[in-house]
Amino acid sequence: MISENSTIWEEEPSFYCSDGTKLAVKLRFSKRAKRRRINLSPREGLEVVYPATGEHPKPAQFLEEQRQWIERAVKRTELQRQALEASRRQGLPRWIDFEILAERWRIDYQPSASLNIRIGRPVLLKQDLAKSTYSLPLSGNVEDQRLCRLALQRFVLARARAQLPRSAHAVLSEIGQKPSEIRVKRRKHTWGTCSSIGVITLDARALLLPRELAREIILHEAAHLKVPNHSAEFYRELYSYPGASEENEKTLKRAAALIPAWFEDTE
Ligand SMILES: [Zn+2]
Repeated sequence: MISENSTIWEEEPSFYCSDGTKLAVKLRFSKRAKRRRINLSPREGLEVVYPATGEHPKPAQFLEEQRQWIERAVKRTELQRQALEASRRQGLPRWIDFEILAERWRIDYQPSASLNIRIGRPVLLKQDLAKSTYSLPLSGNVEDQRLCRLALQRFVLARARAQLPRSAHAVLSEIGQKPSEIRVKRRKHTWGTCSSIGVITLDARALLLPRELAREIILHEAAHLKVPNHSAEFYRELYSYPGASEENEKTLKRAAALIPAWFEDTE
């Protein structure tokens, strides 16, 4: 029995990029993985995920086969890491925009003697055709950055769960599509998925993206309702939707860098 996160080889494997950079390789065994795959993120580094059952060959050859993907991802991840650092220096947000919902939120930090943080009742400040502006009181131990971050993360996730499916349905009805269900989760490596039974799952982070990118995620998954893979036929379908574009698809690959550190940092 192999548990998640266990290592089955004596020495830690590593990978050398063509510029000589050495990357430590983490191995993970996942019950959900159907085949071997690679992840690279600023937080986890380079990770090879194996299905929990079956053979577990050493990763060297697999990594070599994936060299081009890895080297490209390394560059992307480095940009992401720098963006995360820069965002971390900015600290907690005064304003949060949920562009896809046409909402703007002012965060009111209200110190009190409490050790915890309480999320208060939102107040509508202004509403016009373009957007609604609210204020959100966070009261309690607002000196504690970590507690504030966790409270804001809860707020974004709750808002995403409550509102994102509705705006996704609206985008989908524009192109005459109706998924069996739209779910919202908090994930790390994918913006969205579409299951074989037509369930679209969106990443809560979509709420924090520019409107056209959040829309692209929704349209991308909508195209999967018709074409499950990433074939030329898929992209023909996708780019026939208003607003979907190759440029947005490219930008999305780097869009993790647009997510602020206060949402990504869980510590
Ligand atoms: Zn896809």
